[in-house]
Amino acid sequence: MTTNDVQVAVIGAGFSGLGAAIKLKQNGFDDFVLLDRGQNFGGTWRDNTYPGAACDVPSQLYSYSFALNPNWTRSYGHQPEIHQYINDVADKYGIGAKTRWGSEVTHAEWNEDQARWIIDVTRDGTSEQYRAQILVGGVGPLCEPNLPDIDGIDSFGGKIVHSARWDNDYDFTGKRVAVIGTGASAIQLVPEVAKVAAHVDVYQRTAPWIVPRTERAYRPAENWAFKHVPGVQKVMRAAVYGLNEVTALGLTYAPNALKPVELACRTNISKAITDPELKDKVTPKFAVGCKRILRSNNWYPTLARPNVDLITDGISKITGSSVVSNDGTEREVDVIVVATGFHVTDSPVFEAIVGADGRSLAQVWAGTGMQGYKGTFIHGFPNLALMVGPSTGLGHTSMVYMIESQLNYLVDYLKQVREKGLTRVDVKASAQDEYNKGIQHALRNSVWENGGCASWYKDANGNITTLWPGFTFNFRRITRKFDIAAYDVERATAAASA
Ligand code: NAP
Repeated sequence: MTTNDVQVAVIGAGFSGLGAAIKLKQNGFDDFVLLDRGQNFGGTWRDNTYPGAACDVPSQLYSYSFALNPNWTRSYGHQPEIHQYINDVADKYGIGAKTRWGSEVTHAEWNEDQARWIIDVTRDGTSEQYRAQILVGGVGPLCEPNLPDIDGIDSFGGKIVHSARWDNDYDFTGKRVAVIGTGASAIQLVPEVAKVAAHVDVYQRTAPWIVPRTERAYRPAENWAFKHVPGVQKVMRAAVYGLNEVTALGLTYAPNALKPVELACRTNISKAITDPELKDKVTPKFAVGCKRILRSNNWYPTLARPNVDLITDGISKITGSSVVSNDGTEREVDVIVVATGFHVTDSPVFEAIVGADGRSLAQVWAGTGMQGYKGTFIHGFPNLALMVGPSTGLGHTSMVYMIESQLNYLVDYLKQVREKGLTRVDVKASAQDEYNKGIQHALRNSVWENGGCASWYKDANGNITTLWPGFTFNFRRITRKFDIAAYDVERATAAASA
């Protein structure tokens, strides 16, 4: 097996990995490789092809600041358009030539003697190895599907499909469908499936809060202005950004300020549903914002359709041809759609990354929960920068903004590596501990902490290790410069450099 030496290896060609590749190139770090198990750019926007897949962050905010898209056709982007945008940006910056497709990273381990990451990859059934001074993890938190552990699910004789692994060749026309889950993915795909299926049983464990989706098509004059009138799109982007940041106030510091949002959600329900029993079933029993606030105009009307049933009794088991709910009712189905989310705080990726003391991220975080410094560096994992790492997720605005903040930090780190000849950079445990105490302190009054819900924002110990508390401009501020004093660093000796 040959070993390929590179200065930087980036894993994942989604928004964060592609962004890292572009920034590397722009700043003269040309000795890098981008590894991705798929066949094109897009990450989660490549993988989620279920009908109705769309973004619930306004399209004006859902692009890199350095590659605005004047061609958005709608105020909220749909999956094909976002996927296309990401691939167009990759083309524009020539990142394809640096990318190895079909390359699955199975193991990455820090080798202290060599001061390098040793990265094992399988590609077309063969093994490859990369040796990199710096590893950038751009795998994203929403990439590993979570399959529900329901009694008998393996014995189901029909089709089972996860929302993030959609089978576009499967024809749902006339089928009896069970959908498990009522999260962001389910509320988008069920309305589309229900249009063609004979019947859809929706298994809801927890009702989500849903605001109306104020989506509209852009007029040709608007797209013309985005393209030709300098600053128009930037001003619009700034306005949308500012409006969204207001929500951070309610989510993090003053959940009562979200009452108008709750009212909008209740009105959304009342407009579509008159049956009091169904109305009660779809009305959440926790504070708005505790789970992600969803957006839809067609979810409640879909539940009111004659060919859709909402089942809230819970699932006791699955047989060869049916789903049995806790009240003993057995419902025959042809296909089960599992829209049950992702392994976020327990991603299998964490098992594959092994740090300086021989322990994986999964082992290190088993005790503490996900912890890092500025969402990017993790003590004991030298020269590893994790994009969308611990405490960077959001409930109110675009992750692309957070990713770009991390890219600033990454670039400044790389420049210091280059200028100062740094060979090993590891965040100090004390700096990381203090940082995480600050995060937890900032979360203490948040709706995620006190809103009375269970969510993927929390890990198995009930700690919120996924979310950034407060305004995103504060994250932008603390990631503007690489604060080397928070790190233990080693430099190349003159002899070694020679
Ligand atoms: P999700 O929000 O985690 O929802 C999963 C759903 O499955 C929930 O209703 C959950 O119920 C249910 N569930 C999980 N395990 C179950 C089990 N064993 N039995 C019964 N029900 C079960 O997952 P998602 O919808 O895929 O969305 C994940 C994240 O992806 C979102 O929060 C969002 O950040 C992102 N996303 C965004 C968009 C968008 O921009 N529009 C679209 C899709 C996804 P409980 O609530 O009771 O746990």
